[in-house]
Amino acid sequence: MAKNENRNNVALKCSECKSLNYTTSKNKKNTEGKLNLKKFCNNCRRTTMHVETSK
Ligand SMILES: [Zn+2]
Repeated sequence: MAKNENRNNVALKCSECKSLNYTTSKNKKNTEGKLNLKKFCNNCRRTTMHVETSK
């Protein structure tokens, strides 16, 4: 069975313009707390911090 019940989908939000730029999944068992990633934001047109948010 390929079904993985430990992963859940989350959205990544630009911390500056608050736009939802990415969706990803994270493993609840392996990832503690909120995700915080540097990603390119098309809206800001530069790399900003993106934080996990529920959709
Ligand atoms: Zn942005």
